[in-house]
Amino acid sequence: MEYCFGVDIGGTSIKMGLFSRKDGLLEKWEIPTRKESDPTPLLQDIYQEIEKTLNEKGMGKEDIGVGLTAPGPVTEDGLLRGTVNIGWGDVFLGKEAEKIFGISSVFVENDARVAALGEFTFGAGEGVNSLLMLTLGTGVGGGVVLNGQILTGKTGTAGEIGHTTINPFETMFCNCGKKGCLEQYASATGMVRVAEKFMKNTDKPSTLRSLDMITAKDLWDRAKEGDELALDITKYVSRLLGMAIANACYIVDPEMIVIGGGVSRAGEFLLNMVQKEYAQNIFAHCRDKKFALAKLRNDAGIYGAAAMVFEKKQTGNNHN
Ligand SMILES: [Zn+2]
Repeated sequence: MEYCFGVDIGGTSIKMGLFSRKDGLLEKWEIPTRKESDPTPLLQDIYQEIEKTLNEKGMGKEDIGVGLTAPGPVTEDGLLRGTVNIGWGDVFLGKEAEKIFGISSVFVENDARVAALGEFTFGAGEGVNSLLMLTLGTGVGGGVVLNGQILTGKTGTAGEIGHTTINPFETMFCNCGKKGCLEQYASATGMVRVAEKFMKNTDKPSTLRSLDMITAKDLWDRAKEGDELALDITKYVSRLLGMAIANACYIVDPEMIVIGGGVSRAGEFLLNMVQKEYAQNIFAHCRDKKFALAKLRNDAGIYGAAAMVFEKKQTGNNHN
């Protein structure tokens, strides 16, 4: 198979890319995400785009595969579980898509796991055999790639580092229904929540206090400028991230840690802080692990979805 579509289903838009095995991304575009109680209309929207592109290129359905990202965990059997953001229940998304597209090579995997594969194949992961990626955005996504394949696990939970418990004494609920998840502190919204708490609990002067509403970007910008309170907050958040990453490394020990998502635009400053905290929490001989910033930004999903199709067609792994 020489061509495929990489499709990244997000909460507000669906990103689509046409890829060739030889030349990578050929073109990309976006359509709005339709939010309905079942995925059929959304899949029909995607199919319309696929059909139009195939007609334009003079390609047939037998020539292509489709990789889809899913906004929730996908089990070994292909069942997408509880997609809170879009409003579907549990659904066999790959099977539904195959029916609507009339295409037999459709592969589905969780969006953060797919982004990790995208970085592994086309981005920051060049030259390594394994990596753990964290996506710091509205939530904290995670994905592990080992020897070129996404680690999914039995129930699709493998790599879900954002919901590892790092504070058993937390009283607020996470979106997942649990308490004390990494996501509650290290997502963009989590960081703001932590910042507000710090500001309330101390009189330390800070340039953050003059803002009506703090964003994660403000927090990291002020820390870079040397604001002491912002530094306290970012150090605290980095400590939790470093601990969670170290804990994950005791299980999978990947060659590289990649940090992506909107918050990662804080750059090397954030990367260095997290790496330092990681080093405090891991065996001495594992301290110099490679840490890198994600390179593909918003395109990691479509790249990863394409990589997934090419990888599965090559290995003959047709499970979707
Ligand atoms: Zn959670």
